[in-house]
Amino acid sequence: MTTSATPTGGSEMFPPPGRGARVGFTSGRLTVVEVLDLRPALFARGNERWVLVECSCHDRTRKELRWGSVRSSNTRSCGCLDAESRRARRRTHGESETPLYRAWSAMKQRCSNPNIRGAHRYSGRGITVCTEWVNSFEKFRDWAMRHGYVEGKELDRIDNDLGYSPDNCRWVTKLENLDNRSKYLPLDLEAWLHEHARQLACTPYEVIKQALESYLGVSRVDRADLA
Ligand SMILES: [Zn+2]
Repeated sequence: MTTSATPTGGSEMFPPPGRGARVGFTSGRLTVVEVLDLRPALFARGNERWVLVECSCHDRTRKELRWGSVRSSNTRSCGCLDAESRRARRRTHGESETPLYRAWSAMKQRCSNPNIRGAHRYSGRGITVCTEWVNSFEKFRDWAMRHGYVEGKELDRIDNDLGYSPDNCRWVTKLENLDNRSKYLPLDLEAWLHEHARQLACTPYEVIKQALESYLGVSRVDRADLA
């Protein structure tokens, strides 16, 4: 007997793949409404059974699916369940993603993740976040609100050798922060410029301009007066 010959005797010659497929079978939101034909299997040799399912969601979407994935409960909806949980995740995430929350979470990242850029300046130097703040965004937020936080300001450590805690932190403007850091000439000026441009969402040219204006005490207004 050779296997190269194409069987022409119909599927009854072979054990029926996808045994048990029947109308009315349910999995999650799906109900089988029609048992379809055999089709070449996706993940194995031979054929497998397909079924037409209807989803119980608002759209009553009908879809042709592999019987195997319906039977095993791998597929439990027309796709609406996944879409709903994605939306739910975005909502939860969205609420917590305020700039202040991001500042808190970035602070914790800097002090705990040895793989982030500039880790040598934080976790690498033993800079830590006080236990009060590590464990509670609410405590951090309350402190922030009582100590001059407004959106756009950045968290700054007063003593660069000490960690993040209520008595070593303050809120500064981006420019003030830039000034603090620029007291020490960076070894790699180019990288430093690009990093700050990235943080300030501007060009390296803008960083130089801001730093110069701040150094010379020249502002846009002064220049306008001079003109
Ligand atoms: Zn659905």
